[in-house]
Amino acid sequence: MEISAAQLIGFRTVPGNGPTFHAFNPASDQPLTPSFQEATREQIHETVVLAQKAFTQYRKTTSLQRSLFLEAIATNIEAMGDELLQIIHLETALPLSRLGGERVRTTSQLKLFAQLLRDGHWNKNIVDKALPERKPTPRPEIVQRQIPIGVVAIFGASNFPLAFSVGGGDTASALAAGCPVVFKAHPAHPASCQLVGTAIVKAARETNMPDGVFSLLHGFSHEMGEALVTHPLVKAVAFTGSFRGGKALYDLGVRRKEPIPVYAEMGSVNPIFFLPGAIKKGGENLAVQFAQSVTLGSGQFCTNPGICILLNSEESRAFLQKTADGLAGSNVHPLLTKEIAMAYAKGLDNQSKLPGVKVLTQGRKKNIDPSIQFVEAKRVLQQPDYFEEIFGPSTLAILAEGIEELYQIIDIMPGQLTGTIHADETDHSEVIGLIDHLTQKVGRLLMNGFPTGVEVSPAMVHGGPYPATTDSRVTSVGTTAIYRFTRPICYQNIPSSLGEIIIKND
Ligand code: NAP
Repeated sequence: MEISAAQLIGFRTVPGNGPTFHAFNPASDQPLTPSFQEATREQIHETVVLAQKAFTQYRKTTSLQRSLFLEAIATNIEAMGDELLQIIHLETALPLSRLGGERVRTTSQLKLFAQLLRDGHWNKNIVDKALPERKPTPRPEIVQRQIPIGVVAIFGASNFPLAFSVGGGDTASALAAGCPVVFKAHPAHPASCQLVGTAIVKAARETNMPDGVFSLLHGFSHEMGEALVTHPLVKAVAFTGSFRGGKALYDLGVRRKEPIPVYAEMGSVNPIFFLPGAIKKGGENLAVQFAQSVTLGSGQFCTNPGICILLNSEESRAFLQKTADGLAGSNVHPLLTKEIAMAYAKGLDNQSKLPGVKVLTQGRKKNIDPSIQFVEAKRVLQQPDYFEEIFGPSTLAILAEGIEELYQIIDIMPGQLTGTIHADETDHSEVIGLIDHLTQKVGRLLMNGFPTGVEVSPAMVHGGPYPATTDSRVTSVGTTAIYRFTRPICYQNIPSSLGEIIIKND
């Protein structure tokens, strides 16, 4: 499959003029071809101006036209076949079976938004009927509906080269809302980005969308991303990635002369509570499942259970030992980048130096081997550093001396994407209190399951209180993600002859 290493500025393929960079094969540490060039400031400006021009037409497209566009993107991604997966595999070392699943998730997500547009329920007018006889003041008719916000800049994460990258949920929801997208390709998988970007541009042409409705810019310097976020014509930003990156871009977005929303979905430690009844009932099998969840995708999931919390007992400690055995026996594939591998090793090292932390997984040979460490809850209650995300296959067990200590741990915990409780009927008196505390801290609360694996469906919430995200009121997965890229407008006292044209539901 031919890969043109160029910026996609609307319908044009333009060589970059900035510094050159290339991706590395994480399995061999060898540089990959082709090499890419970073977009220049002039190219960023040209792209955003073109996107703004496209917006004047794109915002007037009907829901049906946009749904056809989204479906065409899904079709074009599917048409690239397994060659696309091979290229992503080279850039990420993610297993082909996993990438096959991620492709289905990505195309299903595009189709789900297309269906949402066809159904039309997401943007039904809210109508306050005119009350001309009302005393003392008559009421005019007031109609509220959603309109697209404008040009959206999107940054994807390294660990989901399809579902949270160029053709992922942020792009699908922004395009569905009627917003043009300027996507900043991830420098760890630029060729994968280029191929999916080409599929989107092709779909835009096939469905008569305006030139500039989608663009893809390459780059590896932070300056490039910053230039995009601070461009005056960009009206919103969606980011998936590390806390450091998300917070930096959020700060830039809110400090602009015209502040804009920056929806940053960041890291999380996704606490799992194992209550005594569940441990007794699940036994070794539960420990095996837990170890599998920690090592799934080499632990490189934002929903990876980086913390587990148990009541201190002989059974709990035996459960943790079984988990350690399961982790020691697991095979993990190489981490996505050299930087992520280094950060994993450093993160574990830092965690093991925190007061009271003891390592349970003995005999780790390589830096990327899975790990479980444990600490008493009373230590954690003294300082919050134990909640730092370590991106990779590890978890920290916290042992509490009673249910009150469990609640205290939750109360000092920073915001999380998910929180999970494993319990059986005998634990139910504790569960209600746990749910009550946990609800204040998470975007998704699960019982008797594992947080890795996010369903793409209308009710899904993939978000949560800061620092899991910068805006706990929204989700980046599921159909309600569309509202990040719209704003409400109300029309008051519009004559009905004009209203039929202006305020119509399409
Ligand atoms: P990352 O290093 O933050 O990179 C994400 C993107 O943002 C890249 O394009 C990166 O470009 C850019 N970027 C990062 N910092 C920047 C800055 N200060 N200024 C401008 N651009 C910046 O994240 P990652 O390593 O790819 O992904 C792993 C992280 O993502 C983990 O923490 C994981 O938990 C999180 N994640 C969260 C979710 C979620 O939905 N909440 C989903 C998946 C992953 P450069 O590489 O050039 O810096």
